[in-house]
Amino acid sequence: MSGLLTERVALVTGGGSGIGRATARAFAAEGATVAVADVDPEGGHQTVELIESDGGRASFIRADTSIAGEVENMVAEAVRTHGRLDCACNNAGIEGRVGTTTIDYDEGDWEHVINVNLKGVWLCMKYEITEMVEQGAGAIVNIASIAGLVGLSGSSPYAASKHGVVGITKTAALEFAKQGVRVNAVCPGVIDTPLLDRIVTRLPGRKQFYLDAQPIGRLGAPEEVAAAVVWLCTDQASFVTGHAFPVDGGFVAG
Ligand code: NAP
Repeated sequence: MSGLLTERVALVTGGGSGIGRATARAFAAEGATVAVADVDPEGGHQTVELIESDGGRASFIRADTSIAGEVENMVAEAVRTHGRLDCACNNAGIEGRVGTTTIDYDEGDWEHVINVNLKGVWLCMKYEITEMVEQGAGAIVNIASIAGLVGLSGSSPYAASKHGVVGITKTAALEFAKQGVRVNAVCPGVIDTPLLDRIVTRLPGRKQFYLDAQPIGRLGAPEEVAAAVVWLCTDQASFVTGHAFPVDGGFVAG
């Protein structure tokens, strides 16, 4: 692909690291101008620099996607700076405490993961879809997980949040299909990012466990997830909405 998103504006949350950074760069490689949002200004600015050094256009917006006012401001700033909003990838997410069973989580662990991973995606869609309906078109991709499709031992609030992301993706897709807004989810498998590094540092042995569980025999790269996100935002995916698309090396096929 090249130039499939020329003159379009894309917003990526959690764009300062991992899958978000790869997605922001992939949007820019297709010609989109990218608003890179993240709670971490350092990572976000680095992503903008990488896009600019590749010859693309990008800006940084600091936003915590679990806070309504910051999300409203993020979408408004993207539109104010770049004139419109055509594509959004709601990617910001956290793993929370892993390796603990359902009965051992406390309320604080639970609420933190749900607030960032589920409420955050809902808040992003709330303001993005409002803008896209006014424009008469738009495409959103929410980053869920294989844990949004199947259970994942030791990650109860994470799995709950990601199943929730799949649910609100399908619901919003039905609600806004006739208004020109497509909403899909991508469900990554085990992807080699700083999030995964944190898990395997805390739980030695997990990396081999994940590798053994991959039908394809290796971990995924962030760029392999980004390619699916960008395709779903192009006109090549014009008849695709309400889909939860695994990019998982075959994991959920088993
Ligand atoms: P990552 O490398 O940790 O990157 C996530 C980025 O989001 C970081 O820059 C992080 O900032 C930022 N962030 C965290 N909370 C935020 C908030 N409330 N508001 C705005 N930004 C926030 O993680 P990743 O592996 O790329 O994961 C990206 C998404 O893919 C997540 O939704 C994750 O659940 C999903 N996913 C990942 C995998 C995997 O194997 N890696 C698999 C399935 C799904 P800080 O670093 O400052 O926290």
